[in-house]
This record gives sequence, structure tokens and C-alpha cells, in this order.
Amino acid sequence: MPMKRVYPDYYPDFRCVAGDCGHNCCIGWEIDINSAALRRYDGMRGKMGDRLRASIARDENGARFILDASERCPLLNKDGLCDLIIEAGEKALCQICRDHPRFRLRLRDREEMGLGLCCQEACRLILSQREPVRLILEDDGRSKAEMGRSDLRMLARRDHLIALAQDRSLSIPERMARILEAEHAALPPVAMEQWVRVLLDLERLDDGWTDILEAGLRSGPVQADAVIQEQLLVYFLYRHCLKEWRCQDYALGAVPFCVLSTQLIAWLCREPAELSEIARMYSAEIEYSDENLAALLDTLDQYNRGEDT
Ligand code: SF4
Repeated sequence: MPMKRVYPDYYPDFRCVAGDCGHNCCIGWEIDINSAALRRYDGMRGKMGDRLRASIARDENGARFILDASERCPLLNKDGLCDLIIEAGEKALCQICRDHPRFRLRLRDREEMGLGLCCQEACRLILSQREPVRLILEDDGRSKAEMGRSDLRMLARRDHLIALAQDRSLSIPERMARILEAEHAALPPVAMEQWVRVLLDLERLDDGWTDILEAGLRSGPVQADAVIQEQLLVYFLYRHCLKEWRCQDYALGAVPFCVLSTQLIAWLCREPAELSEIARMYSAEIEYSDENLAALLDTLDQYNRGEDT
């Protein structure tokens, strides 16, 4: 299909570091297998075909790889590399493995793509950008689809918020205030400690996240670098605004969520060197948990609707 593709300027620089990754995404995550890949695996011959079929659990909700006792994907070898890629190449991967850590959002003939902060290398790449990130638009010129007025309005609204996030004549708190003001939105007037307690009440995947949250309650934060906070704000706005505005479930919570997420990551940081790991964990624990993400969005959405939370 003819498409317009949009991606942040750092996107093409991403390379998975595979065996050198300290937080391999093939450990600890449920890996669902899409139906086209499942058909391929069912028809694959030889030892790899047998191994694949023995590694898959199936039920009425679909198919997924059976993780071992250490929650490792059964195809991940001791060197941290994927045996399926080694034997059959990347094209043999299921959709989720081929895409990760990339995310995509379709808006008619436009596909927006980005890199998820939960990946150690993507996080390093995103937070190492020193210049304001630009969104690149690639248009093959063949699409005749007309973007609807409401979609165009949403894109312009998000562009405006990203421009505010990148206004370096203002401090980060001023930029956040302008962003919220532009949306007629607000954050509940509670201290960061209270938000950290909210996070402690949510489901957690990694005990290391609990340690970070508890450490946050014990000592005061350091001042996080303004450029890094800008990159976080832009990342969250790019990723979450359109998605939430379109699905409407938590439309009023989206922008406050982007601001709060940036504030929380910065606030939890004790040492500048920790920031990247805290951002990665926040993403893994909150952004990549449907339940936890919905809990925060819902709280912020209700607050901005004037409902009790
Ligand atoms: S977390 Fe990122 S860098 Fe690490 S193995 Fe997964 S995709 Fe590669």
C-alpha cells in the first residue's frame, strides 16, 4: 500500500546489540506468535521445525513461546543470540520479534514509527540526542488518500505540543506548564512522593523497579539534564497523544501522562548516570504494561474531567 512514513530522525540509527544487551527482550516478556508466523512454523521441516513446535503453547487466545524456568525464550542461546535467526534469518521471526522495540501507529495512509524506551539500546539512542529531534516524513507520492479534518487537527495539535517541548528559551517546568495550558489540562496537585506510592501499588515485573521507587522515597532527586528531559517529553508526546486522542478512552489523560512520566523519571534519578536505566524501567513497567498504563491514564483522565480520583 502506498504510504507516508514518519519517524524520529534517530530511528534509522537503531541496531539491536543482541548478545551484548543487559536486558535482553527475549527474557521475561510474553512472546505472542502471529498467525502467519505460526503457519510457517507448523510447516517448517527439520530439527528447527521440531524444536519450534515443541516450544509453542497454544490455547483459545492464540500461541506463544513457552519461556523456561528463568523466563528465557526457548530459542535464545547461551550467548544471548536467537537460534532461529542464526538458522533461518530475521525473516523467519514472528511479527513481535521482528518489530520490537519498534512501535507503529497507522493514520489512514500514514504510518508513524518509533523506538520504544523499554529497549536498553533504543533508550540510550533516544536520550543521547543533543539536538531537538525532528520527525522525518517519507512520502512515496503514490497515495491519493485525503487525511480527514479531525486527523489533520490532531496532527497539528501534537506538532504544537512537540514544538513547546523543544522551546529551549524556556526551562523544562515552563515548557511543561505551557504544554498543559495549551491542552487546558492539569496534573493533580500532589507531591511526587505520592505518585511514587501510586507506582508502588501497581503491578511490578522487576524487583529492581521496587528498589528504584523506594530509593526515590528515601532521598532527594538530582537535577536531571534539561536536554534529556526534553527528549523524554518529545518521546512520550510523539508516542501517546495520537493513540489516546483517537481511541478516546483516556483522551484527556494523554498529555498529563506524558508530562508526569517525564517528571517521574527525572525525579527518581539520584545520579545522572542512572537516568537511562530508570527511563528504560519506567517504560517496561508502565508503558509496556497495558494494565499499569491504563491505571495511570485513567487517573489523569478522570482528574481532567473533573471527576473524583
Ligand atoms: S532490548 Fe533492545 S538491544 Fe536488547 S536484545 Fe532487545 S531489541 Fe536488542
